Amino acid sequence: MRTSPVSILKEGTKRITGKEVQMSYLIAAKTIAQVVRSTLGPFGMDKMLVDGSGEATVTNDGAEILKKMHVTHPIGKIIVEVAKTQDAEVGDGTTSAVILAGSLLEKANNLVESGVHPNSILNGFKKASDKALEILEELSADIKPDDENVLKKIALTTLGSKGSVAMGSEKLADIAVKAVMEIAKKSKGKINLKDVRVMKARGESLTESELIMGTVIEGEVDVPNMPKKVENAKIVLLQHAIDLDKGEVVFSRSFEIDKPEDMKAFVEGERQIMTDMVSKVVEAGANVLLCEKAIDMYAVNYLVKNKILTVRRIEPSEMEHIAKAVGGRIITLAKEIKSNALGKAEIVEERKIGPKTFIYLRGCKSPTSVSVMLRAGENHVLDEAERSLHDALCAVRNAIEDKKIVFGGGACETEIAVRLKAYSLTFKGKEQLAIKAYADALDALPSALIENAGLDAIDLVLELKNTHRKEGFQNYGVDLYSGNIVDMEKLNVIEPLRVKKQMIISASEAANMILKIDDIIALKLGETKEEGLEDRLRERKSRASTRRRKWGMTDVQIVK
Ligand code: ADP
Ligand code: MG
Repeated sequence: MRTSPVSILKEGTKRITGKEVQMSYLIAAKTIAQVVRSTLGPFGMDKMLVDGSGEATVTNDGAEILKKMHVTHPIGKIIVEVAKTQDAEVGDGTTSAVILAGSLLEKANNLVESGVHPNSILNGFKKASDKALEILEELSADIKPDDENVLKKIALTTLGSKGSVAMGSEKLADIAVKAVMEIAKKSKGKINLKDVRVMKARGESLTESELIMGTVIEGEVDVPNMPKKVENAKIVLLQHAIDLDKGEVVFSRSFEIDKPEDMKAFVEGERQIMTDMVSKVVEAGANVLLCEKAIDMYAVNYLVKNKILTVRRIEPSEMEHIAKAVGGRIITLAKEIKSNALGKAEIVEERKIGPKTFIYLRGCKSPTSVSVMLRAGENHVLDEAERSLHDALCAVRNAIEDKKIVFGGGACETEIAVRLKAYSLTFKGKEQLAIKAYADALDALPSALIENAGLDAIDLVLELKNTHRKEGFQNYGVDLYSGNIVDMEKLNVIEPLRVKKQMIISASEAANMILKIDDIIALKLGETKEEGLEDRLRERKSRASTRRRKWGMTDVQIVK
């Protein structure tokens, strides 16, 4: 009997199963891990990413590279998510997490090839990752959250792998530590890094970058004959305009003007209202006025006469930041200005940097928000400095919040690998194989560090492992400059425990998710979300057409 083929899936749908799925995830994971692998560690290279308009980004940041690569492969996207999660959760260790995820999938694939079912691998990987987290806790050392010295070493380790900002790494580490320590003083438990505002201005060099115990805003002093610098500043932060048209005068007025004297009286009256409003600034004892909206010319004249440094049209979000920095309260209406709402700064001054003008508010006592002004002669360097400073700020925050660190340079990964191997022996059969495979996957990290430094990875990883098998060498890693196996505590290669833990979590979660897939069903291009969108549009059109007909209107069709 002849049977005709039965179509279950929509025409054009592509389906891959079994071995093909395995090949697909292996290639995607390997390719993506390969791309970022060469950027790992202090000898990692940078990537230049060029967009459609020819705009280039030069970076060493794993998350940034993968974000800009626009990966379209569905499995590849899961790996890219690893970097994003790592970046969002802990802000550092993105490259390591992606390399580990790729390596785990490679080892899993070898096991599948030799006949182990993915579910057995999943079981073994789960046990291994739980154990790895336990081992990490055991390996971690306690630090004091106010130990500036150790925090600086943590920041320097993070910045050490950002080659293009190497010249300024000392300065950036210093800034990161001081900024986070200042914010930490007022935060209860959780440190919000949004309170460290990062600004960039082209010119000079990275070493000229500065931490401002206060804030910086882009803007200029209102009129030329106002003071450009005020010491011992008392600052009014005003939300509404000082202006009759746009401001706070809400009563309705009607005048009949018949004679020129009436007109004069009217203008005088307006001036008086303006003066009354703005005189509150002087009465409160302020010498700086920062306003979100407009200020009338009469009021400006009064401010000039009273030597009040004034900046207007400040963004509301900036105003909130300034309030936190100078310790003032944002006042809604000018008539509410009071001396107890004023913010304070040692100096408020205008500074021109290249084509831009900034207002610096420095020397604030116990600010709950601080600013960093990054300087570099080149925009690419400025952008990379911003990304690197973000990593360093995160590293310092993690260390202060958790008060726990581990040692880098391949030390903790190797120790976990060695202990996991021993742990695997407590299991039998396929589970043992999977835990061993997980341990082997961790080698990819020291191996990439060593390879990138131009050293022999096979020999050194072996030597490193042999060292770790001995008692008392758990903090030993590779000195990438000399090729020797040394104590990373002495070499000051220190990382927050949280970064390494999250690396294990993100990479294991991605590997687990991918290993559970046995079927990839791909819709024909253009039939994904857009199809739903088209359906919705069609439905909306037909509803509109029914309504028009109900109201006795004719449907008009435009024929192109
Ligand atoms: P990630 O995006 O994973 O943070 P990095 O390029 O920042 O990648 O590299 C981090 C790795 O480099 C960590 O494993 C860290 O221990 C290692 N590392 C940093 N500085 C040194 C150093 N001086 N010697 C050896 N390893 C280092
Ligand atoms: Mg890093």
